[in-house]
This record gives sequence, C-alpha cells and structure tokens, in this order.
Amino acid sequence: MAKKPGSKGVEAPDFRFRELRGGVLLTNDFGGHVFLSRSEFDRYRSGKPVPGRSYEALVAGGFVKDRLGFETLFGRWKSANASVFHGTGLHIFVMTLRCNHKCLYCQSSVVGERAGNADMSPAVAKKSVDLAFQTPRSALTIEFQGGEPLVNWSVLREAVRYARLKERKTGKKLTLALVSNFSLMDEEKARFLLENEVSICTSLDGPEPIHNGNRTYAGGNSHKKTVRWIKYFKARHDSQNGLKYRVFKPSALLTVSKRSLGSARAIVDEYLGLGLEEIFLRPLAPIGYAKKHWDIIGYAPGDFLKFYEEALRYIIGKSAAGEPIKEKFAQMLLMKALGHKDSGYLDMRCPCGASIGQLAYNYNGDVYTCDEGRMVGWLGDDLFKVGTVRDKYEAVVSNATTRAVCASSNLESQPLCFRCAYKPYCGVCPVYNYETQGSIWGLMPSNYRCRLMMGVLDLLFGLLQDAKSRPVLEKWAGIGESR
Ligand code: SF4
Ligand code: SF4
Repeated sequence: MAKKPGSKGVEAPDFRFRELRGGVLLTNDFGGHVFLSRSEFDRYRSGKPVPGRSYEALVAGGFVKDRLGFETLFGRWKSANASVFHGTGLHIFVMTLRCNHKCLYCQSSVVGERAGNADMSPAVAKKSVDLAFQTPRSALTIEFQGGEPLVNWSVLREAVRYARLKERKTGKKLTLALVSNFSLMDEEKARFLLENEVSICTSLDGPEPIHNGNRTYAGGNSHKKTVRWIKYFKARHDSQNGLKYRVFKPSALLTVSKRSLGSARAIVDEYLGLGLEEIFLRPLAPIGYAKKHWDIIGYAPGDFLKFYEEALRYIIGKSAAGEPIKEKFAQMLLMKALGHKDSGYLDMRCPCGASIGQLAYNYNGDVYTCDEGRMVGWLGDDLFKVGTVRDKYEAVVSNATTRAVCASSNLESQPLCFRCAYKPYCGVCPVYNYETQGSIWGLMPSNYRCRLMMGVLDLLFGLLQDAKSRPVLEKWAGIGESR
C-alpha cells in the first residue's frame, strides 16, 4: 500500500506492510523486506528520519525514495522471477491412470490396476516427448507419473530411450524424473533407471502406521517397500564412484493428513533415519479425491500451521546441530524472500506456472495446464485442457485457457494480494480456486490456501527475527551467514 510521507526526512516509495510480532514488516515490489519497531514505522510513514541501522536496512531494501539503486533492485526482481522469462520447463507425463494403491488423499485420478484403456500408448509417449522438446528453454525436465507409472513399464522405458535420443539430437539439457510408490520396482527396472540417469522420487508419509494408514495397499506393506527402495537408491547414490553415469539422491514427498498432526517429530525422525536431506511438509488440498474423504483426512488451516511450526522448529534445531536436513516449503519461499532467487516452485510464481512453467500430458494425448488441471479434467470438466500432443507448443502456450489462468494467477489483478505484504513471495492457484470457490479468480478473504500461505509466511518472517533460527534459514536460502 503506498504511503506518501511529508517532505522532510525519509521519503517512501510504494511499500506494503504487516504487523508482526509487535513490530512491522515492510515489503516492496523489488522483493525487499525490512522489520521496523512500531515507533520506527510511525516515523517512517510520516516522513521523519529513522535512526541508525534501520535506516541503512531501509536503503538496502529499496524503501528510501532518493536512495533507490535501480540496477540492483531490478536485478533482484528479475532474478527472483527468472522463470517467467523462459518457456515451459516441467513436462509431466501421466503414463497410466492405473494404480495398485488407494491412498486416502490421492488427487491423481486413478483407476484399479486391472482397468483397461488407461495407459499411455507408445505413439502418444513419442508425440509427448516431441512436444516437450519444442519448448524454447535450453533445459527441460520430463517427469513420469501416474497412477503408478511402473504399471506401464514398457512404454515408460521406450519414452526414456526416445527422450535421451532427442536430447542428443537437439543439444538441450534433459532431466528425467520418476515418481513411484515402488511397489512394482525390481532390480532390472532400477538398473535401467540408474543407467539412464532418471532421478527417483517416492511418497513417504512418516512412520509405518501413518504411512500405511494413508496409503492403502492391498498387495502388501507399502511402508516396507518404500523404505526398502529408498535405502537401495540411497546406497547406489552414496557409492557411485567410478560409474559412467550420475546417480541422484532419492527424494520423498510427504502429504500431511489429519493422521500426521500429532506426530511432527516422529515424521521428521523417520526422514532423518533414512538419511533423506529434504522434507517437504505439503498441506493437503480439499480437491478431487481428498475432498471426498475430507472428514477423515482433512483439517482446518490452523491445525496444519500448528503442525508445521512444531515440525519446522524441530528441523531447524536439527539443522543447527549439523544434521544435513532442510524443509523444502520454507526453503523455496526463503530463496525468493532472502536470496532473491527463483526457486522454480511453480505454484508460488506470479503468474503461476500453469502452461508457461509446466504442462501435463495425459495418458490419452490430451494436454493440460498442469497436473492439477488434468485431475479436474478427469472429473469430467476440461476447463484446464490446453490442447493435445498433436498441437504445436506455440498453440498450447498462447491458448485462451493458458492466458486466462496466467491473468487470474497474476497477483497484480487479485485485490487482496495486491495490497498484501506477502505479494512479492506468494502465489495463487487458479485450479484450487476453481475447485473450492467456483472461479479461477477465487476470493482471497475466505480462501483456505491463502490462510495457509499467510500463516506459513508469518511464521517464516517471525523466525527470521530469531537470532538462533535466522542463520539456519539463511543457509537454506543459499545466502551467507550474515547479510
Ligand atoms: S494469497 Fe493471501 S497471503 Fe498470498 S499474497 Fe494473496 S492475500 Fe497475501
Ligand atoms: S494452476 Fe495451480 S497447480 Fe496449476 S500450475 Fe498454477 S498454481 Fe500450480
């Protein structure tokens, strides 16, 4: 919100503010932030001089009108929003809708393992690779998902080979990733994936009772299989010297359900025990399949925030004690807020990453703004479909749906976001808004996701004022110990 102080002392350019922990947090469109005490803030906004270190912090953050270093400030903004200037980087291939799990929160629109007409064909896989390589980016990621992608192994394997061939022909840098529940993993598949430098990600919700409670698997113990293959891939990563190919560290995703709420420390300990160096505390979204089971697995934003704070403080403590662990949600937000770097987190971009940051290629050749948009399509509403694999990339990214989703996720056009102190670091999700509030624009004052984001950002900016937490958070954000 712009404030125009008087002519003497500090003259302020446009800024936003939020009362926090008894003081005031100021932010601006350059991505700068500064904390002032209440009395300093009163002086600043009425144009009176602000003493000492706070004045220097105001200058450095771009809050003093006659001391704006435009080149530096614009450079920060550009770096924090770098991906907006490039083409689509993430290409999600839905290899099949089939899955042998029935997870309570699954939004992936799955069908049973034996269902027919639910697999990507070799022809669609090839066309999908061709379309993905039309991105103007010099580097791209293809992520194989499902359902459970290993159910459609032969096509996945051919898609990997074809994509690597295409990489050599085009000279673009290709990253391949697989998201699997590991239930169908075996030595032969693992070897192929390793030799083709496919990075591996799985789901791990915590200790066995929590994980298996969320992730129903009639074929056995989901947790045991997950842990076994995390250890397998971790061991390969840790002993890769002398190999001709690069082995990535395996990673895991956590979905926080009602079952997780009282077990923050146990969940973090499970990750630490397996040597995983990142934990991503992702809140559940009441959309798709999760909406149906919300009574069993859902929670109010305040419940998540309480869990998140306990887990985050615990992780910060472990990290401060030298354990190589960080929390991914916090890290990505802090990279932008402290490091002025684009973390690549598509849902926190402005505009969001729909089509221009990611595309989801359905098993049948339909292409959607993102995987969440594809899930809405599975429920019979193709609002987020932007084309098919037979289309040209230019047609997909200039499609009317792409433009509408970009417009509605631009925080400049969201009335509450435009005035919010967290605008430089936050993002809104048109798919989420459409599913929960009936419009891609949403209504932030009553928006569940907005309340979560505001709570998480309040917590992070609060922790930045804490002398013990700040060095850890700065390290996660990729900046030095002192600023
Ligand atoms: S979504 Fe909410 S927290 Fe984020 S910028 Fe908008 S109003 Fe602020
Ligand atoms: S629409 Fe939502 S899920 Fe899709 S890219 Fe945008 S923020 Fe992400």
